[in-house]
Amino acid sequence: MKNTGKLIIFSAPSGSGKTTLVRYLLGQNLDLEFSISATSRKPRGNEKNGVDYYFLEEQEFRKKVDAEEFLEWEEVYKGALYGTLKSEVERIWAEGKNVIFDMDVIGGLNLKSIYKEKALSVFVKPPSMEHLEDRLRSRKTDSEEKIKERLAKADREFQYAREFDCILINNELSIAKKEAKNLVEIFTGK
Ligand code: 5GP
Repeated sequence: MKNTGKLIIFSAPSGSGKTTLVRYLLGQNLDLEFSISATSRKPRGNEKNGVDYYFLEEQEFRKKVDAEEFLEWEEVYKGALYGTLKSEVERIWAEGKNVIFDMDVIGGLNLKSIYKEKALSVFVKPPSMEHLEDRLRSRKTDSEEKIKERLAKADREFQYAREFDCILINNELSIAKKEAKNLVEIFTGK
């Protein structure tokens, strides 16, 4: 029997490699589907509406907040709102799949507190702050100011690691991928 109706939450400071791990898991035949968040920030690089995010104007985003359409939402960075729509989780469960999230640390803990044992929360940790800084710079997608903001936030986020169900250290990507897959297989019984 299929074991669905579960949530897998990957949270980490920006630049820890969680998006790479989530994409890898999505390609592994694990019956997972990505929860597409809504955001008020502008698309970066090749990002597409309805694929990477639902890109909304801030006013539209706030309307949905007032209409209680979000499970959780946050101003992750100054002037940039992000949130998970209730309709995403319902859509994915209706397809008989489990939901996987790429989420900031506070959002991840909020979701875990809503769904409790139905959710597996994973904190992806880079080996060091220096690694994180190198990754953020090598992406070449953010200004110096944005990088500084992300590093300051990462420093605060590390304090929350122990509140997650597990910590996955992303030092060697191929090992982290195997560990991530293992965690999902055990949790979902896939
Ligand atoms: P980025 O701008 O780099 O795509 O994302 C910034 C941060 O927002 C990342 O840590 C990302 O995981 C987080 N994020 C993405 N979607 C959501 C969401 O729905 N809710 C919350 N709380 N954070 C999110």
